[in-house]
Amino acid sequence: MGSPLSPIIANIFMEHFETQALQSSPTRPSLWLCYVDDTFVIWPHSRSELDLFLRHLNQQHPNIQFTMEIEEDNSIPFLDVLVKKTPSGFPSHQVYRKPTHTDRYLHYRSHHHPSVQQSVPNALIRRAYQLSDQEHLHKEIKHVTHALTTINKYPRRKIRTLPPSKKTNNSTPIDQTLHQTTYHCRTTLHREDISPATDKIPTNKQPGVYKIPCDCGKIYIGETGRNFDTRLKEHKTCQQQCDWEKSAIVKHAQKEDHHIDWNNSQLISSIPQWHSRRIREAIEINRHNTIPQDTGLHINNIWLPVLHNEPISGRKQPNSTPNSTSPSETLPATLPTRVTTSRYNLRPLTRCP
Ligand SMILES: [Zn+2]
Repeated sequence: MGSPLSPIIANIFMEHFETQALQSSPTRPSLWLCYVDDTFVIWPHSRSELDLFLRHLNQQHPNIQFTMEIEEDNSIPFLDVLVKKTPSGFPSHQVYRKPTHTDRYLHYRSHHHPSVQQSVPNALIRRAYQLSDQEHLHKEIKHVTHALTTINKYPRRKIRTLPPSKKTNNSTPIDQTLHQTTYHCRTTLHREDISPATDKIPTNKQPGVYKIPCDCGKIYIGETGRNFDTRLKEHKTCQQQCDWEKSAIVKHAQKEDHHIDWNNSQLISSIPQWHSRRIREAIEINRHNTIPQDTGLHINNIWLPVLHNEPISGRKQPNSTPNSTSPSETLPATLPTRVTTSRYNLRPLTRCP
């Protein structure tokens, strides 16, 4: 609860926890799928071995305790899917509702924007297609239609029961996102450093975060909202006009009698948005061995292991001096400005032999 970082940290920890627990167990499940704190397991061994396995999991960490639910009548719910064993051995799946579910959704007569109301039937029908197999699809659509028209008073015409569009089925998920994008999605994608491959603007003509190396091995990290070429020329002009105070890298070179490696200056990442650029600048300053310069936005210590690619267990405590632990050039230059995890995809952790 609270911090947006919590699920990320929890996922990192649980992935580590589960990997260790599974590797050290004498018997293992044939399938282990987890979503946040729910885990779906197929157990090919005996019931007594399953109890031992549960005990083994609960001995791993005092704060992580599992409870177990076993299939009843050959079926078990996982999240909002009811998985059922069939005689063929292949599991069937359908939408699962708790026994206490009342089928009450946003009422059609409630004072909400029509687009919000329309999203209710759309989402329920989409979910029906996504979670139901062929055998259960018709029944699910019928159930949703009945619940919406009777309890929630939606007109029948508002419920479109056709399958969700598959226009861009041949493309990759990222293509689909780009094709269907709205203005809002486009700006979000840009913010995440994802842009269409057709972007023809030369790299050095874009705004973003850049680096200028010095011959002593240290570098200067800067950001500009205009284009990189223009900003680089300004640094050079500062040097030519002996205007030391206006450029940290020029000041450093003058003070230490070093040479600036102008030829290897480059744009690290093209980012048009000011705030994203500032975050990326702070990240790059943190990751590189920089000359004395403004450290940019403050980065909470909790991010440092991620920025420095350190292993989760047995890591060094993050140093509060931002530049002292930098592995510098060995790190990839395209670290995203925001670390994201997939919130809605199941995360297959381990398929055990
Ligand atoms: Zn230097």
